[in-house]
Amino acid sequence: MKRIGAHVSAAGGVENAPLNAAAIGATAFALFTKNQRQWIANPLTDENIEGFRRNCAENNLPLNQVLAHDSYLINLGHPETEGLGKSRHSFFDEMKRCEQLGISLLNFHPGSHLNKHSEEDCLKTIAESINLALEKTSMVTAVIENTAGQGTNMGHRFEHIAAIIGQVDDQQRVGVCLDTCHSFAAGYDLLTAEACAATFAEFDQVVGFKYLRGMHLNDSKKGLGSRVDRHHSLGQGELGLEVFKYIMNDDRFDDMPMILETIDDSIWAQELELLQSFEK
Ligand SMILES: [Zn+2]
Ligand SMILES: [Zn+2]
Repeated sequence: MKRIGAHVSAAGGVENAPLNAAAIGATAFALFTKNQRQWIANPLTDENIEGFRRNCAENNLPLNQVLAHDSYLINLGHPETEGLGKSRHSFFDEMKRCEQLGISLLNFHPGSHLNKHSEEDCLKTIAESINLALEKTSMVTAVIENTAGQGTNMGHRFEHIAAIIGQVDDQQRVGVCLDTCHSFAAGYDLLTAEACAATFAEFDQVVGFKYLRGMHLNDSKKGLGSRVDRHHSLGQGELGLEVFKYIMNDDRFDDMPMILETIDDSIWAQELELLQSFEK
């Protein structure tokens, strides 16, 4: 089955996220397990952990359909020792928080070279960062999100993702989340069914669908190849609805969290209904 939801608020405690997901009729969801703009977070309490697991169970939201998103501060490809150390420590902490909550998927943006080392070195650094985090944890998969390619961000080419995965030791615990807005902004055409077929075939050839663990379903305010990351509500941007019709009818996207990160949370319930209406 298709599992769809949104990146919901965890304000007041992570245990509120599944309640916010249930309120919009979601069958999967994403969340930040800590404030995404701070390095340090208070540890999760037993109340947070038990409440989160209970609220997921009571609302038919299986833990394997939860996609945690890491902090925006983390750069696992950082060219400098201090920034890299801080990022690696924080990423490990995020993985531990996921383990405590029973979440098996941690989604992150690969990293940025900041014009201080080569793209190749940056990709190698990212893979080493993943290896270090996986060595010290046991159940969480590191899920690499493709990016729009703004600034010095890596991960906007499928080849970048393949290069990272190729250098990860435990390939059972590395995966990919494709963001439709980022793909389109990065230059992958998703405007028609034919274009979707070609782009996803390229993804399959370069990376492999076996690594796909989740999707971010977003329209884009900017055009094809703009390299600018601006999400829009479904059908209101440059991307249009074809790609969402395509995804909702392709079984390669079954049984994984597919998450709205669209800009108007007051219409998420309607957007989920719209997605469901595309399923034939
Ligand atoms: Zn993201
Ligand atoms: Zn995204």
